[in-house]
Amino acid sequence: PVTVVTIDGPSGSGKGTIAALLARELGWGLLDSGALYRLTALAAMNHGVDFTDESSLEVLAGHLDVQFLPSETGEGLSIILEGERVGESLRTEDVGAMASKVAALPGVRAALLQRQRDFAELPGLVADGRDMGTVVFPGAALKVFLTASAEERAKRRYEQLHQKGISASFDRLLADIQARDERDSQRTVAPLKPADDAIILDSTRMSIQEVFNKVLEQMRL
Ligand code: C5P
Repeated sequence: PVTVVTIDGPSGSGKGTIAALLARELGWGLLDSGALYRLTALAAMNHGVDFTDESSLEVLAGHLDVQFLPSETGEGLSIILEGERVGESLRTEDVGAMASKVAALPGVRAALLQRQRDFAELPGLVADGRDMGTVVFPGAALKVFLTASAEERAKRRYEQLHQKGISASFDRLLADIQARDERDSQRTVAPLKPADDAIILDSTRMSIQEVFNKVLEQMRL
């Protein structure tokens, strides 16, 4: 069977970075499940589908025409939606907020379930998201729940944007993060919470390298 490691947590906790590092270290596949929700939101925008129209969103999610290709730089993946390359636009907080709205719909989650499981290929998979350990891969060999304070996560986001020369308001970023946390943890289907058998890591005062070492340590246990 395919060995799966899940890394769940709120936005900005560093789970995407850690998942990518771990997949590369092990030579395993990588599932960025948040991208599927973000892509569903983008496709809905492109097709003028209303965010309250659950049945149309469900069909859209079930038929998402998307490919994940290794990028030229060898880092991360290049994502093609309906034949067109999706760039950084996928990562904006606006698209994240839209994603969290479509992600609250049970029909959309059900439509994406099998697609996520299909990412599991030998020798292994690192899956990052909100419900990887609780719903999508309940039998995962190792489940990590990565968190950090909302202030720290807003600070990281602020610095990331600053490095790209994008100015942002810290208070606005913090408010956006808190709103998304609230929506993700209060929803009725697959709310954001650690699996019972997850290892909880608080990265507030840890560097990426420290978190990565902790996860590797758990892999060896
Ligand atoms: O992780 P990322 O910020 O890309 O996820 C965007 C949104 O997609 C999250 O705020 C969440 O609402 C939703 N999501 C989810 N389940 C996942 C991954 C993401 O509900 N496994």
